[in-house]
Amino acid sequence: MTTLSRPEAQPRTAPLARFRAPGPFDPAHGHEQVVYCNDAASGLRAIIAVHSTALGPALGGTRYYPYESEDAALADALRLSKGMTYKNALAGLDLGGGKAVIIGDPTREKSEALLRAYGRFVQSLGGRYVTACDVGTYVADMDVIHRETDFVVGRSEPHRGAGDPSVLTAFGVFTAMRACSDHVWGTVSLRGRTVGVAGVGKVGHLLVGHLLEAGANVVVTDVSDAAVDRLRRSHPQVDVVADTDALVRADLDVYAPCALGGALDAATVEALRARVVCGSANNQLADDGEGGIPERLVERGITYAPDYLVNSGGVIQVSDELEGFVFERAKHRVEKLFDATAAVLRRAEEQGISPARAADHLAEERITTIGSSRMYLPGRR
Ligand code: NAD
Repeated sequence: MTTLSRPEAQPRTAPLARFRAPGPFDPAHGHEQVVYCNDAASGLRAIIAVHSTALGPALGGTRYYPYESEDAALADALRLSKGMTYKNALAGLDLGGGKAVIIGDPTREKSEALLRAYGRFVQSLGGRYVTACDVGTYVADMDVIHRETDFVVGRSEPHRGAGDPSVLTAFGVFTAMRACSDHVWGTVSLRGRTVGVAGVGKVGHLLVGHLLEAGANVVVTDVSDAAVDRLRRSHPQVDVVADTDALVRADLDVYAPCALGGALDAATVEALRARVVCGSANNQLADDGEGGIPERLVERGITYAPDYLVNSGGVIQVSDELEGFVFERAKHRVEKLFDATAAVLRRAEEQGISPARAADHLAEERITTIGSSRMYLPGRR
C-alpha cells in the first residue's frame, strides 16, 4: 500500500476540484503554450501566453499591471491571448494570438534591467511570440526590449518602428463605419450623417478628422476638458455634449465609443438612438453572454460592428514592422477592413445571429481553413 492511498494522506478536498479557475489546459481556452518568466535580479515576474500559432507567430502586447495575484495575472494572459488569436485572424493577418503580462506597478517598478530581462524571455521563444505595447507599456519600452530581442513591434520610428498605431486604428474605424453605412443605408458615404464620438483621445480625435472630411456632422463628449479643447482648436465645427448619457440619447446615426470598455451596457442599448455602433474602444459589450447585449442590439435594429475587428488597424500597422514598415502597405491592409466588416454583417444577417457571433465564426473558419494544424516553428514548415 502506498502512502498516498491511505485515507489520512489524502487532502480532504482535492485542491483542483475546489478551484476550477480555467487554466491553459481547459478545453474552453486550448492554449498552446504558457511560459512563466522569473528574473530575481531585476524583479521580473511575467507570463507569456501563446494561445495559437495556427496562422503564424503569436502577436499580442505586453500588459504591465499590479495584479492582485498570480492567478489573476494568468487569467488575464489567457483571456487576452485568446482574443488576439481571433483579432489577428479576422484582420486577415498571418499571425496567431498571444499576450504577455508583467506583474507589478509600472509607475514604480519598471526599469531598463527588468524590460531587458523580459526581452530575453521573448527572444528565448525564437519568434513564436512577438510582443508589442499594451496597458502600462509604451513605444519607448519596446525600444528597450528590442535591445534584447528581434521579436518586438510597436517600436519608435528611429528604431524602424511604425510610430503611433492610433493613426491606422482611426482610419480602420472610419473604413469599417463606411462598410456599416453601406450595409444599413446602401451607401458608403457618411455625408450628412450625424456621428457621436465618445472619447476624443488619440483615436477619437483622428476619427473626427476623417468624419469631417467625409462630410459628416460630429458630436463628441469626453471626461477630459483638455481633450475636448484640443479637438475644438483643430475642428471648431464639432458639437459637444456633457457626457456619454447625453450622447447616446442624442439624435445620432452612428455611435462611436472610443473611450473605455463596457460602453454597451443594458441601459445604453435601450437608450441608444443610433442605427450603427462602430468605434475603437476594446471590449465594448458589457455582457457578451448568449442572449445578452449582442442579441438585444439585433432586436433593437442596431448594427454593431465588432470592436476587435474595427479597431484592428493598430495591430495591422505595428505588425507591418515584421516586414520592414511601409506605411502605404499597412494602410492598404487596413482598407481591407471594409470587406471584412461587410462579410461579418452579411453573415450575421444570413444566419440570423449577431455580428459579434458572426465575427467569431468567421475568425474560427479562417484559422481552420488557412491555418496549419501544427504549431508554428520558426524556420520550419
Ligand atoms: P486615449 O487614452 O488616448 O483616449 C481615450 C479618451 O477617452 C480620453 O480622452 C479620455 O479622457 C476619454 N474618456 C475616458 N473615460 C471616458 C468616459 N467615461 N466618457 C467619455 N470619455 C472618456 O486612448 P486611445 O488610444 O484613443 O484609445 C481609445 C480606445 O480605443 C481604448 O479603448 C483603446 O483600448 C482602444 N484602442 C486603441 C488603439 C490605438 O491604436 N490607440 C488600438 C485599438 C484599440
